[in-house]
Amino acid sequence: MMSTGKIFDLHIGLSDSAILKEDLGKEGKEFPFPTQFTFSEASLGGLDMFVGMACPIIMEDSGRFVLPKDPKAEVLRHINFYKSLEEKGLIKIIRSKKDMNTPILKVIMGIEGIYFVENEDDLKFLESLFDMGVKVIGPVWYFKSTFLDSNVVRKKFFKLCFDRNIVIDLAHSESTVFDIIYDCYNGPVIDSHSGLYDVSPNERNISSEKISKIIKKGGLIGMPFLGEFIGGSKINNVFDHLDRFKKLYGVSNLAIGSDFEGMGYQDIIENLGTVKEYPNLRKFLLGKGFSQEECHSILFKNASEYFCRVY
Ligand SMILES: [Zn+2]
Repeated sequence: MMSTGKIFDLHIGLSDSAILKEDLGKEGKEFPFPTQFTFSEASLGGLDMFVGMACPIIMEDSGRFVLPKDPKAEVLRHINFYKSLEEKGLIKIIRSKKDMNTPILKVIMGIEGIYFVENEDDLKFLESLFDMGVKVIGPVWYFKSTFLDSNVVRKKFFKLCFDRNIVIDLAHSESTVFDIIYDCYNGPVIDSHSGLYDVSPNERNISSEKISKIIKKGGLIGMPFLGEFIGGSKINNVFDHLDRFKKLYGVSNLAIGSDFEGMGYQDIIENLGTVKEYPNLRKFLLGKGFSQEECHSILFKNASEYFCRVY
């Protein structure tokens, strides 16, 4: 049965500014990222499930990003915030396959940039995060990760992730890091939010060679709604990436990873700048000749089935 306008977003920045004050009944703090959203907007847009990636990085008043003094505490702060939302009954954190049928907004918790892992001891902390429900790891963000340089630590890291069925997110991984992970990790891999380099040659985008490799492992590639990556600020620019992907690889490994929360005003796509505007993309794709079924696969089904398989 062809259903609904349900959305599975492979990448939304998990942060305690994600939810506006009206949902929490208290004063929210001013936040420079414009794509934060409310639960009512999420439901208007059909958002059913998302991978929420905590990025334990601090933005200074000057706008510069730095590593926090205590990155472990920063990660816990994000995760505890989501736990508190779950305790209030506002979201469900996915811990196993059966949680995926819960009829409220669902979050798969992930971490982008595990700069708190430097030695073998730190892997115990990482394991405790897996116990808390973290399911996706993006080893790097825009800073270099030193633990990958150590053969011993990275071997243990891959084993720990494999034993716990952790999805490794290759977004932000430049070629050397990509190759290390791709060659050494036998568990599931995705790229949650990168455009096609062939369509828009931004260094954050993914090459056709890497796409083929991820597809070979059965992984997903999520298209971001971020002007800098996709090379423009119109829905048509997002379409160009989805359309090229479909022509080259079909739609079975294609998803969306908006990167809502993780972008500034300059990167917002017109009419696709917030969670309540997902339906505009569906409408646009249908207008351009994508079938209902293809839209459903890209916007929901592929990611939903992928995580069902993983868990
Ligand atoms: Zn990112």
